[in-house]
Amino acid sequence: MKVVLKNLTKRFPSRTKNGDDVIAVNNFDFEIPDGKLIGLLGPSGCGKSTTLNLICGLEAPTSGQIFFGDDDVTRLPPENRGVGLVFQNYALYPHLTVLENIMFPLQNLKGAEKMTKPAMKEKAVNAARLVQIDSLLERKPSELSGGQQQCVAIARALVKTPRVLLMDEPLSNLDARLRLQTREEIRRIQQETGVTTIFVTHDQDEAMSISDMIVVMKDGVVQQIGAPQEVYDNPVNLFVSMFLGTPPINVFDGNVKDGKLFIGSEAVLDVPGVKDQSVTAAIRPEGFVLDENGPFTLNLSRVEVMGRDTSVVSTHPNTRNVTIRSIIPARNKVDRSAKHVRFSLLWEKVFLFDAETDLRIPFDGQ
Ligand code: ADP
Ligand code: MG
Repeated sequence: MKVVLKNLTKRFPSRTKNGDDVIAVNNFDFEIPDGKLIGLLGPSGCGKSTTLNLICGLEAPTSGQIFFGDDDVTRLPPENRGVGLVFQNYALYPHLTVLENIMFPLQNLKGAEKMTKPAMKEKAVNAARLVQIDSLLERKPSELSGGQQQCVAIARALVKTPRVLLMDEPLSNLDARLRLQTREEIRRIQQETGVTTIFVTHDQDEAMSISDMIVVMKDGVVQQIGAPQEVYDNPVNLFVSMFLGTPPINVFDGNVKDGKLFIGSEAVLDVPGVKDQSVTAAIRPEGFVLDENGPFTLNLSRVEVMGRDTSVVSTHPNTRNVTIRSIIPARNKVDRSAKHVRFSLLWEKVFLFDAETDLRIPFDGQ
């Protein structure tokens, strides 16, 4: 089911007399293709949950419209929209078994949709099988791990065959290893069912790894929409470049003069086609190439070996980061006793932004 958001806006009135309203979602305009998994990504407070609540009907928009396929659902109550919901806290009924929890949404169906008990059970067992918890049907939620509980919540959200599946930070209560496992489970389940899914997270790794497309939000405003790799490789502004990537991108104050990027007094890269101006230059950790004759000199702090890669930690007077991290292959040896380390740069890993507006300034070839 395709989901269309048309100029969707949600304004919360100020709680104080003279305070400003909060525009939690500002003019969100997007068509989510059928059967895709969309990662909605941004820092806390940027409007992710509000967007999800608008789509499922828990909140009414201030303006704008929502369509599921050709159906305008903007004014429909949540129970008539056909959405499955999964939240951070699994919200299972503690006194019901796994099977009863999953069956629960089917028990309230009325009229023509009303189901017999065996039919409900069959559906619930199928949903449990899909999320691979069919061996746990008789247990109570307290007898399950966090990951298993969240799988029960997912099965419960899927049991009515929703038109759209909405997940709000579903992995945030799980420990690191379970998070990894469960996010792969979610991707598998989504692909098996083909249900259009919107997955909210503040964790860029999580969004990048399982989404067909990501939407990066800030202060209620969509910053960029695209395939994860496309957004990583071509951020439209400084915020997006800084939000994606671990370790984070390295940000420097620089200048462009005669088609060259200067950081401090060094001309570190040719940036043809960019006029002379102050810029913010952001360099991905993997954009540094160890090169004893390289143009970019950094003050070496330490070298961290991480198995496959080596992380070179350094400082520079013109950076905005506390430290600069460069990731190089482990076979490239750094002289740890040296005061300085020199690099050349990969042009496709360097992004220039307008020093005032933070908007991207691509150079020729980018
Ligand atoms: P996120 O899920 O990205 O952390 P939210 O959508 O929960 O962000 O919140 C977006 C903004 O809207 C925040 O500034 C938040 O304080 C505000 N907000 C959310 N819900 C309400 C509400 N019911 N009343 C007033 N302000 C709200
Ligand atoms: Mg939230």
